[in-house]
Amino acid sequence: MRKAADEARSAGTTVGFVPTMGALHDGHRSLLRRARQENDRVVASNFVNPTQFTEIEDYEAYPRDPERDRQILAEEGVDIVFEPDVAEMYPWGFDTVVAVRALSSILEGEHRPGHFQGVATVVTKLFCAVHPTRAYFGQKDYQQLKVIKRLTTDLNLGIEIVTCPTLREPDGLALSSRNIRLISEDRKAARVLSAALANAQEIADTGIHDAYVLRAYMAQTIAVETRANLDYAVIVDPEELREVDTIDAGAVALVAARFGSVRLIDNQLLRVAPGAEVRR
Ligand code: AMP
Repeated sequence: MRKAADEARSAGTTVGFVPTMGALHDGHRSLLRRARQENDRVVASNFVNPTQFTEIEDYEAYPRDPERDRQILAEEGVDIVFEPDVAEMYPWGFDTVVAVRALSSILEGEHRPGHFQGVATVVTKLFCAVHPTRAYFGQKDYQQLKVIKRLTTDLNLGIEIVTCPTLREPDGLALSSRNIRLISEDRKAARVLSAALANAQEIADTGIHDAYVLRAYMAQTIAVETRANLDYAVIVDPEELREVDTIDAGAVALVAARFGSVRLIDNQLLRVAPGAEVRR
């Protein structure tokens, strides 16, 4: 991979990198297209990283379809596909980790201990192998995006991290490789996550900027859907992801819930209409 990447870069070309865990959908396609538009060469990786799963069952149940993935990557004009196996990424004696401590200890990190250490370590390894000019990540995984931006800055990697908007189904459900594991009743119920986020923005648009009130609305919207088991519905500052009292200085709403054995996350940046009257 390093040799191919060195050659790709040798003529002063730019390299865009899209790391994935396969089971590719239109959300991945949007990242690949953006990378294709903005760079001379595009590299994509397909690796289901065992160290970021908290439960072995979840790792084993993670959807895999490498043939179809290869076809999609070819359709999107990817120049180099990196498909390492587990032993190649974690050979015997592997003992180094990358930990982005504060950001990894809250929210997803609290519900999935070790998850972000697994993500940060594998992404650092992939960055070292590919050496991209830019790397593309979805806003869908907001906390992951922040972890990756942090480690890129902290370790002086000199890679531009590009944030891509969340692609959604017509009913609002964020596209995710996990969606195909939802049984049909849960698939219908899962729209409640994006509905709760949209609801928070609608309430904010009426002038209510109190984060506790907005959070209560979100939790209530999700509670009405009995198939949803809520892990969290919070409103935090967009950088450190600490809970805020008001959304006046900018905020992001984050939700996570389980539907059967499938855990889904979603988020939305909350806008404050300029000049809008604030209500209590
Ligand atoms: P994954 O294969 O789930 O690890 O995702 C690979 C990349 O695709 C990550 O940067 C994700 O944030 C991004 N991604 C996943 N779902 C979406 C979506 N619905 N819209 C945009 N990007 C997404």
